[in-house]
Amino acid sequence: MLLDPDRYFDSEPAQRNIARELFQSVSHLPIVSPHGHVDPNLFVAEHASFGSPADMLIIPDHYVFRMLYSQSIPMESLGIPRVDGGPVETDHRKIWQIFAENFYLFRGTPSGAWLTEELINVFGVTQKLNGDSAQAIYDHIVDIMAKPIFKPRALFDEFNIEVLCTTDSATDPLEAHQKIRASGWGGDIRPTFRPDNVVNLMTPGWMDNIAAMGAVSGIDVNSYASFIAALEKQRAFFKTLGTTASDQAAISAYTYALSPARAENIFQQALADKITPAESAQFSAHMLMESARMSLDDGLVMQIHIGSIRNHNVALFGKFGPDKGADIPERSEFTHNLSALLNKYGNESGLSMILFAMDESAYARELAPLAGHYPALKLGPPWWFFDSINGMRRYFDMVMETAGIYNTVGFNDDTRAFPSIPARHDVWRRASANWAAGLVVQGIVDMENASAMVEDLAYNLARQAYKFNEV
Ligand SMILES: [Zn+2]
Repeated sequence: MLLDPDRYFDSEPAQRNIARELFQSVSHLPIVSPHGHVDPNLFVAEHASFGSPADMLIIPDHYVFRMLYSQSIPMESLGIPRVDGGPVETDHRKIWQIFAENFYLFRGTPSGAWLTEELINVFGVTQKLNGDSAQAIYDHIVDIMAKPIFKPRALFDEFNIEVLCTTDSATDPLEAHQKIRASGWGGDIRPTFRPDNVVNLMTPGWMDNIAAMGAVSGIDVNSYASFIAALEKQRAFFKTLGTTASDQAAISAYTYALSPARAENIFQQALADKITPAESAQFSAHMLMESARMSLDDGLVMQIHIGSIRNHNVALFGKFGPDKGADIPERSEFTHNLSALLNKYGNESGLSMILFAMDESAYARELAPLAGHYPALKLGPPWWFFDSINGMRRYFDMVMETAGIYNTVGFNDDTRAFPSIPARHDVWRRASANWAAGLVVQGIVDMENASAMVEDLAYNLARQAYKFNEV
């Protein structure tokens, strides 16, 4: 099993040669990972373990088990924990065997490319993964993972990660992050403030989340005003642990400023468990405005992820909970929906908003023109299903002419799977190099500018956009 050294480059020799040269100039740069979902507990202890190969590569990664589930492989057989604590497979060799027998399902997919690159580059696997090789490769990975160099902190250094941001609920006391800082280890791991489960009033368990918000902030949340005060206090607490950004997910980009009285009224309805979907949507639209106001006040970068219908498979959600591969994109509208937000805050150069979209049809029509105009707005990289070689190609084609690369923010790996981080950044750096090489062979930019662009896309833009230079 080998990796093509020219993977993702154009087959035309002139472009390919330039792409290779540009990629080589950035392949050694440190990794900046400003948004993702790696568990910070992996870095608390000096020799924390990833667990078994299944714990590391299968059980936490919905990119992986969604594909297996789509081929009717039961989630229980993959060891995915049930909400009710009911029985699931606990023999990780059996889970690995199923994964290996079905690894062919990932042919031609980004997950297949990442996993193959991880197996080769991180774990030194030389055989193709299939049903016959499964147990030998499992043994090999177990042996490798027992070595000190394969502990999470050692891999953090080995991967040349300069900064890694996790995603943390607004109600999280951030114990893992506090322990990492107190340990004296030099790895730069930062929390990100994610208030979704308190600002979206119809979140299952919202009342419990509000109680947790009260407990963690020390503010009794019994009104809209105390809710805002608790959010502001938690943002300040997150900042003491290195947070530079918030992140909010919303189905729609709809923004709307409620009057203080109406916001209080809706909040009281929620506390009384009488909230309607329409009121909840209005409140979410209002809280995007409020988050922008808070970001302007406290300097946190504001990330917004729009357009994913979460938990589409109701029965699966009931059995296994959220983040199980059943989130499906929908069509999004931005120009009208963001009008209130951008007219109030879009001209503030002190504010930094980074927008992620799942509707590619909006890139050229709406998002690139918006980001190419409003000083506060930048576009995030291709997200989730479009974090792929073709998603990146389409993004470069649809966005960059109008927005310019300097209204974008480099790459986010957005992963839960820590060992996949180098592979994901490798795809982006190769795709960037190939795109810039295309501009060079067409005489659109010269080699000097292409080199600078590829370095900015690989490294500088993410550092600047997420303010890692400042904090
Ligand atoms: Zn994410």
